[in-house]
Amino acid sequence: MTQTNQLYGNGLPFLKDGGEMGRLIRSFNWQATPLGSPGNWPAALKQTVSMMLTVNFPVLICWGSEYTQLYNDHFRPINGATKHPQALGGSAKDTYAEIWDTIGPMFARVMKGETIGFPNFVVPLDRNGYMEDCCFDFSYSPIYNEQGEAGGVLVVCIETTDKVRSIDNLRETSVELQATNEELAAVNEELATTNEDLTEAQRILQRNERFFRSIAVNIPNSLVVVIDPDHRYLMVEGDLMAKLGFDRRDYEGKHPTEVGQTERYNAAKHLYDRMMAGEKFSVERKPETGGYYIVHFVPLKNEKSEIEAGLVIAMDITDLKQAEEKSAKLAAIVESSDDAIISKTLESVITSWNKSAERIFGYTEDEIIGETIYKIIPPDRQDEEPHILARLKTGERVEHFETKRLTKDGRLIDVSLTISPVKDKQGNIIGLSKIARDITERKLDEDRKNDFIGMASHELKTPLTTLSAILQLAGSKLKKGDTDFLATAMPRANVQVKKMTGMINGFLNASRLESGKLLIEKDDFDLNHLISEVYDETLLLVNTHTINLVTSGALKVHADREKISSVITNLLTNAVKYSPNGTTIEIGSEVQGDTAIVHVKDEGFGITPADLTQIFDRYYRVENRDTRHISGFGIGLYLSAEIINRHNGKIWAESERGKGSTFYFSLPLGS
Ligand code: ADP
Repeated sequence: MTQTNQLYGNGLPFLKDGGEMGRLIRSFNWQATPLGSPGNWPAALKQTVSMMLTVNFPVLICWGSEYTQLYNDHFRPINGATKHPQALGGSAKDTYAEIWDTIGPMFARVMKGETIGFPNFVVPLDRNGYMEDCCFDFSYSPIYNEQGEAGGVLVVCIETTDKVRSIDNLRETSVELQATNEELAAVNEELATTNEDLTEAQRILQRNERFFRSIAVNIPNSLVVVIDPDHRYLMVEGDLMAKLGFDRRDYEGKHPTEVGQTERYNAAKHLYDRMMAGEKFSVERKPETGGYYIVHFVPLKNEKSEIEAGLVIAMDITDLKQAEEKSAKLAAIVESSDDAIISKTLESVITSWNKSAERIFGYTEDEIIGETIYKIIPPDRQDEEPHILARLKTGERVEHFETKRLTKDGRLIDVSLTISPVKDKQGNIIGLSKIARDITERKLDEDRKNDFIGMASHELKTPLTTLSAILQLAGSKLKKGDTDFLATAMPRANVQVKKMTGMINGFLNASRLESGKLLIEKDDFDLNHLISEVYDETLLLVNTHTINLVTSGALKVHADREKISSVITNLLTNAVKYSPNGTTIEIGSEVQGDTAIVHVKDEGFGITPADLTQIFDRYYRVENRDTRHISGFGIGLYLSAEIINRHNGKIWAESERGKGSTFYFSLPLGS
């Protein structure tokens, strides 16, 4: 207390206050320090201490040659005075001994009048319980005494922590901002490029869409519809729009049901579903409104193979279908033609070959297409082809050209050729078509007919000659009054007349049969009776063979009596013709179920199995050593078979070569 009073008394009223520092200064034993008692302090020091104790920032005074330290409360944490309370009143040289090398010269400079500042000097301070880097502007300036000499160094510390932090923050922010800015610039640049790309992509897209639309519009006879997975329209285009019930409105994003196409949509929905499930397919449609359409359904996938949309293209293929139908019809006609229809190039290479060509020439389509036509031309007729070609090249047709051609198995066949040039739309000859008719059979027929006429005339002449001889003889006998001759001559003449009548009837029936005019006129009669009649007539003519009749009772049939009579006569005549003299012939009948069966059995030359299959054919005659001298026309059995067939009966023969034959025919029994 004394001290305090003493201090006040020493003219240091300012020490009355000054917080904790004030108390410390007041209680401090200044006498022992180089500063000596406060009362003796020079005015400059007093004034400075007084100011120091009131200001609210750290202040340090280092006074005198020893730099004796005096500081206020605020300075205490800065020099660690809390830990080193002895610093108060102590020499700065001691307190800062470790760094005096730096501080000493600086203080010396200040003492010479210089003011030195250290802005934003970092001082670690314990604040709020932990160490914090605080910043202070340190200012070192001289304190002048009344004589104007520097008595000490005033150290003022103005805290700049917040400022520095703000600046740091600002700097950081600025760095960040700069980085962000750079990033932004980069992004911007990217955006610019992306934008350019986008513009380009947009341009390409627009161009593609234009192309797509113009393709869609320009596919002739088509309708192009693109739908999304919900079956909403994305695009509708094409010149068939109106025809297929679309108008020129914008369909984009609209569902078919929203634009009044519910019915059509319901019919097509299952197809849209299939397409959206990934199936690509086509269907053909024939709407009631006419025409023929093919509709393609194509799922449109993105790069991840997901279905994004569906493309439906309907195309009018009416013309194509009609052409197809026409060409199918033509192909069917060509295929079913009895004539060989062949097409070939101007270089004679075969390009098509129908079924009849295969039948006639023996080569299959596969074997002959791509081969030359010379393959079917006999070696001695090969010069015909260039000749025909030369004529065709002038546009001429070659019609009904009769020649011979070679089959695969080496047979020569008679053909009638009609060859025409095949022209394209511009009229250029692009190939040749050849119709070949196999006329071998016709030629044979012609030959047979000629033979037949020759033979018929000859056969008719024989009984005619005999008849005229009988008549001549009868004439001369009558002149002489010999009438006995007539008694034997007349039956002989009658036989010849019968022979001729039979032959002429045969020819007539054959020609009627040919022209489809062979009439069957049925009556009820006794078949056994008819057999007996024919038997009796035959006996009149035949005395070279023994003929036995094996019938019993009556056999009622409903048939053409005259025609059946000609059949029995033919079988009996043949049995006689094709059996050696002196052999026996049997004619008889029997009943089997509801049919009557007539047989004529001989002991003649017999017929080989191969001939047996053909003897009922027209003009067919067996040619062998036994039959060579036997005349005939090959129409007897043919006629007989036709007559029996028309009575719903059957005719057949059993035979063994060298042993004889049995001919049978059956007729249904009459009621
Ligand atoms: P054709 O006028 O030649 O007799 P047909 O049609 O009556 O004509 O007979 C056809 C051929 O059948 C005859 O040429 C003959 O070779 C053979 N043929 C017919 N009947 C007999 C028979 N009973 N025995 C052997 N061959 C027969």
